Amino acid sequence: MLSGLTITRAAKSRIGEVDFENLPFGAVFSDHMFSMSYSEGRWGDPRIEPYGPISLDPGTAMLHYGQTVFDGLKAFRGVDGAARVFRPERNAARLRESAARLCIPPVEEEVFIGAIRQLIELDHRWLPRREGQALYIRPLLIGTEAHLDVRPDTTYRFLMMTAPVGAYFDQNSGGVSLKAEATYTRAAAKGGMGYAKTAGNYAAGMLATANARREGFDQVLWLDSEQHRFVEEVGAMNIFFKTAGAGGSGGSGGSVITPPLGGSILPGVTRDSVIALIRDRGLTVEERPIAIDEVMDGIAGGSIEEVFGAGTAAVIAPVERLEYLGRNETLKNVPGPLTLALYDEIVGIQTGRLPDRHGWNMIVPLPASEAAAPMAVSSG
Ligand SMILES: *Cc1c(COP(=O)(O)O)cnc(C)c1O
Repeated sequence: MLSGLTITRAAKSRIGEVDFENLPFGAVFSDHMFSMSYSEGRWGDPRIEPYGPISLDPGTAMLHYGQTVFDGLKAFRGVDGAARVFRPERNAARLRESAARLCIPPVEEEVFIGAIRQLIELDHRWLPRREGQALYIRPLLIGTEAHLDVRPDTTYRFLMMTAPVGAYFDQNSGGVSLKAEATYTRAAAKGGMGYAKTAGNYAAGMLATANARREGFDQVLWLDSEQHRFVEEVGAMNIFFKTAGAGGSGGSGGSVITPPLGGSILPGVTRDSVIALIRDRGLTVEERPIAIDEVMDGIAGGSIEEVFGAGTAAVIAPVERLEYLGRNETLKNVPGPLTLALYDEIVGIQTGRLPDRHGWNMIVPLPASEAAAPMAVSSG
């Protein structure tokens, strides 16, 4: 599948040290990682080796100028004992688009998918078994040339690591609170790199996020960079607003509004999936600019009934409270019926409990001994 792949197994697994009851997001990594190097105009030397430190010259330009991109997706232990990877070809395509924006040579889909399959086969015991848990897959592309010119590197490294993760937000603890940010922006305006999963966008968001946390919020709701008026997204999630139907509240009827992808917003795979699932329900999805005032007035007046974020890490995160320039609005009935139904549906598809009618899952069979102990999933 991956020609020339060499596999060096870890002498001893670290899995015994892991507390699977309590998995903080992205703090523990599985035994192995995938690695490939780029030089003289081509990728080569694909290998799987024990997870561990890599060495870089302090003059590596990437450390100074940020020529690096990443992606993120999840594998789930299915109810039938097979592993399911959610829409990996979309992440492969997005990594190529992010890479193109930063002048990084693309990694072929075949290599991206092949690396995922190999890592899951090798580290299948790291796939967690509890509902809400998953194996998070983190592909990373970095420039590796030591020089201080501001120009694209000539050598790169592609790494892929995996990490067993728990639920990002606790579904049982109500919803998240968001502070709409009126001073800082996450990504530059049109023409910038907001659509790319690249280090600089996250560094740009840290100050506002730290401020918001200090003020008691979970996350920042980013607004457009020109007027600080139109809603963009939530840092690691895209955002959705459910409006009341003509006949009033209750989850049926109405439409769902989400900001359009315009270059500054990250094109989430979960966003795309959620839009499809909402349309399947016969609801309208409007991808259009929505002003923060429209959101605040809508919540206050009851025409916006549900707000939720969508992203790989959180899946679906209900929003309970929003603040903008000192004005606070709180959603009633959190999580709302559509939020809950979408969460249940997407998790159901990801774990094989519900039919995969869009063909989103890539199945990776696990050894029979593993299949005998499928993940415990409650229905409904
Ligand atoms: C990754 C990410 C998302 C969500 O994308 P998914 O593909 O759904 O995980 C949204 N916003 C930002 C800034 C992100 O980095």
